[in-house]
Amino acid sequence: MRFRSDVTVELVKSSASDADVLFAARVSTAGEKSLEEVGADAERSAGLINYLMRDRHGSPFEHNQFTFYVSAPIFVFREFMRHRTFSYNEESGRYRRLEPVFYVPGAGRKLVQEGKPGRYVFVDGSPEQHALVEQTTRRVCGEAYRGYLEMLEAGVAREVARGVLPVSIYSTMYATCNARALMNFLSLRTKREDSTFPSFPQREIEMVAERMEEHFAAAMPLTHAAWNRNGRVAP
Ligand SMILES: Cc1cc2nc3c(=O)[nH]c(=O)nc-3n(C[C@H](O)[C@H](O)[C@H](O)COP(=O)(O)OP(=O)(O)OC[C@H]3O[C@@H](n4cnc5c(N)ncnc54)[C@H](O)[C@@H]3O)c2cc1C
Repeated sequence: MRFRSDVTVELVKSSASDADVLFAARVSTAGEKSLEEVGADAERSAGLINYLMRDRHGSPFEHNQFTFYVSAPIFVFREFMRHRTFSYNEESGRYRRLEPVFYVPGAGRKLVQEGKPGRYVFVDGSPEQHALVEQTTRRVCGEAYRGYLEMLEAGVAREVARGVLPVSIYSTMYATCNARALMNFLSLRTKREDSTFPSFPQREIEMVAERMEEHFAAAMPLTHAAWNRNGRVAP
């Protein structure tokens, strides 16, 4: 049995740069010459990206691609896969035996929810509550996994036996998106006071989103800066 309190996010494949936004936008006025103008004038390029973001001209942000490898608890994947503009492939609980890796909240995870729906705040929780979460998670996950193995050993199909496993078990997937889809995802799955529309995501999917945002910022710094400047609203 292995217990983790973190997530894995790797950028495994990508074709994404600010120049991809520029040539797509400039075809409006430069036609087939728009590719030649890429990189011509850095200040003008930053201004154009900011204008596209501010006025929500979204399609030039679609000519690029990020493929992420993600390992996270299944309850994170359930939220993640609501984002329909990503393409997904996930490991199968029908075709392979699931590994005994489970999520347990780390010491820094705030445990107690206060406030109204949509306006929650989370506060730390007492040492007793932290101990209860840790002990209960380890005990129940251990018992569930033992039941899973018992059924497999008795010849029960994996797709049936997996029914006893909790959503805290880790899964793995590849998720592919473009920058426009990624900005929509990040605007909803990160919590920032300075967002035009602040969101209140669950902390564990936010941990995935934060790692993705680092890759996005590194690959497309002008786009990332313009998105932040315009209140983190996806164009
Ligand atoms: C804090 C939070 C709490 C949530 N709570 C719940 C909950 O309690 N229950 C629940 O069911 N869900 C919940 N969700 C999920 C939420 O309702 C969305 O399904 C999810 O955030 C994906 O957003 P999206 O549709 O913008 O993303 P995507 O599916 O990636 O779509 C991106 C954009 O494409 C367009 N689009 C995509 N598909 C369509 C379509 N079929 N028709 C028209 N336009 C489309 C829209 O402009 C959309 O914004 C929650 C989400 C968050 C962030």
